[in-house]
Amino acid sequence: MRVNIQRIQRDIENLSSFNATPGKGVTRLAFTKEDREAREYIKNQMEKIGLEIYEDGYGNLFGRKYGKDRELPSVMVGSHYDTVINGGPFDGMAGLVTGLEIARYLVEEGIEHENTLEVVAFNDEEGVRFGNGISNSRAMTGDMKEEELDNTFDKNGISLRKAMEDYGIKPDLEAAKVKEGSIKAFFELHIEQGPVLIGNNNEVGIVQTIVGLDRYDIRFIGKAGHAGTTPMNNRKDALLPAAEFALELNRIAIDAGYGAVGTVGEMKILPNASNVIPGYVQISVDIRATKEEVINNIHQEMNKLIDSLKEKHPVEIQVRKTLYISPVNMSEEICTILENKAEELGIKYEKMNSGAGHDAMMMARIAPTSLVFVPSKDGLSHHPEEWTDYEDLAKGIELILSGVLELIG
Ligand SMILES: [Zn+2]
Repeated sequence: MRVNIQRIQRDIENLSSFNATPGKGVTRLAFTKEDREAREYIKNQMEKIGLEIYEDGYGNLFGRKYGKDRELPSVMVGSHYDTVINGGPFDGMAGLVTGLEIARYLVEEGIEHENTLEVVAFNDEEGVRFGNGISNSRAMTGDMKEEELDNTFDKNGISLRKAMEDYGIKPDLEAAKVKEGSIKAFFELHIEQGPVLIGNNNEVGIVQTIVGLDRYDIRFIGKAGHAGTTPMNNRKDALLPAAEFALELNRIAIDAGYGAVGTVGEMKILPNASNVIPGYVQISVDIRATKEEVINNIHQEMNKLIDSLKEKHPVEIQVRKTLYISPVNMSEEICTILENKAEELGIKYEKMNSGAGHDAMMMARIAPTSLVFVPSKDGLSHHPEEWTDYEDLAKGIELILSGVLELIG
């Protein structure tokens, strides 16, 4: 193998030491002390490798190994280094360490190339502190707006802008926007966060599509009443249509096929007492699919369901869309390159889709992008016991190295 497992392990272990909750998983929220420590470590590694460091107007950190022709678009590899609260050591870091290890390999082997290699460290991907997410890659694609810096607050009431300024970054959204055509390819390695690869005994997943996301907030407004004295034929029980909705959404998602999923994940019941008929129920709806038309079909079925529930139950139903993100396809050309390389390297791979969002989702708007998954033990992530074997991680890095060598000229 060309990549060095000990070095990969050392980077992952060192990065997980910059942690606000030692012994309880890794917690490293954006623009905090732990963030700064991790960032210093990454910069230090970049310098040791001999990369030129660049920071953009949003605090994205880049390490560049210039190609012979600096005018050519760059080949970029990286991921995020922030975590959720009590998360694991691999989510994000695995992709960042991929970039560092590939840069080390190119330097050590004295490999000359036409295009510049850029290792990128995104920061605020999880969005835990400010409740937004993928904001660093959104800044690069020009999707981030000035208002968001001032209107987004953490739980202590500190605005995103203030937090960034305190950290030492003066946000300049114009300067953070990537020039069109300046990235030839973006590679992200990420842990799968699901059980599919291990279940199929595969070593690597080559992602074809990152699913689209359609979210709703639905409120059922009935009337509370005494559970003992209100007859069954004289009730406006808000839980009944809500419960029926959850069951029916499950059926609609199964019927839609193509791996579509639909989930009612949150339910708020008022007054939530054992002797009172529920007067108000609020639920969240999360629908995901790889094809826009499948999402639209599910949405239509959902509307029909709501109409029938309104007829059946004496309860007012209010539906509000809270988020829509279209499905994003990865670059077919790079996927094909990676499939061929996996076969050459004897790495067992499968083509799959991503049910979770990643920085790659934004980067695909501005560059041909690919996303490679490595196995997650028990499908676990965002958890202290999140684990990927270093041998598996190294195979994923090896595959991306082959892709980089193919494209870097
Ligand atoms: Zn992640």
